[in-house]
Amino acid sequence: MPHGIMGISTSDIVPDSTGGQFGPFAGQLLVGDQGHSKITRVFLERIEGVYQGAAFPFLEGFSSGVLRMAWARDGALFVGMTSRGWASTGRAPFGLQRATWTGALPFEVSQVQSHLGSNRRNPTTNGAIPWTWWVMSENLPSSKNRVTASSSGHITVRWRPNNLVTHQRQLRQTKRIMRRAGYQLTITETMGIATNSHQCGTLRMGQDPAEIVVNPWCRTHDVANLYVVDASIFPSSAAMNPALTIAAQALKFADHLKQQNHLFQ
Ligand SMILES: Cc1cc2nc3c(=O)[nH]c(=O)nc-3n(C[C@H](O)[C@H](O)[C@H](O)COP(=O)(O)OP(=O)(O)OC[C@H]3O[C@@H](n4cnc5c(N)ncnc54)[C@H](O)[C@@H]3O)c2cc1C
Repeated sequence: MPHGIMGISTSDIVPDSTGGQFGPFAGQLLVGDQGHSKITRVFLERIEGVYQGAAFPFLEGFSSGVLRMAWARDGALFVGMTSRGWASTGRAPFGLQRATWTGALPFEVSQVQSHLGSNRRNPTTNGAIPWTWWVMSENLPSSKNRVTASSSGHITVRWRPNNLVTHQRQLRQTKRIMRRAGYQLTITETMGIATNSHQCGTLRMGQDPAEIVVNPWCRTHDVANLYVVDASIFPSSAAMNPALTIAAQALKFADHLKQQNHLFQ
């Protein structure tokens, strides 16, 4: 259990063995928590011999710290409580409460299942986790793209999506892979410029001083002792997450600078 979020001092564990008398979660586990005075619900499944599962908030607001649980013959849950020795959110020093199901179907997540294991060939959508895949491709550099600021401080971004044929091909391939993995329904949502987080390329690296700003050793063509070492020197964004490449480039540059002069020795 995530400590402090789903509880702080887990106590008794009882399976819901009521066969539906206590609601729609028969077979799941109920886990008490003394400090938070509550009961959490746990769904477990066994995938290729290994248990995995998910925990959900279930019942809260007990009068003292939940320690013991036991089923009554009518499918109600007796909850024995104490806050002795360790304060609980329920202020009473001790207590006994009886929880019953009202009969109303709660609007709750029933279970979380993985279909990538032994169920791969026979997935159902009932209760399955939807997977989100982020399919990135590169918007190729264009000298027509611009970010401008007006005198009033208003920023305007002008850009045109390009490289779309490649992107569509990549999307189709991704959908094929997901279908093979058992996900029959795929929904595509395209992100616009507002989802941009890999800004780069304003001081591009290259050989020709007429076209670009820094040389392959990160030195600006115009100012001899000015170096730029960040994402701005990328000639192209490459679509992928750039941080490791930025760091690798900085390490390479530092070595180079050390060899060129003795600044850092
Ligand atoms: C929400 C988000 C999520 C991201 N997730 C990932 C990810 O998972 N993986 C990944 O690889 N990349 C990720 N990125 C991209 C990555 O963080 C950036 O590409 C990378 O940090 C850029 O590095 P940089 O050195 O070029 O610029 P920055 O990290 O932006 O560094 C520029 C520095 O210059 C300083 N500065 C600016 N102006 C001045 C000034 N006038 N004087 C002095 N200092 C100044 C700034 O304070 C800043 O510290 C993410 C970016 C965002 C926004």
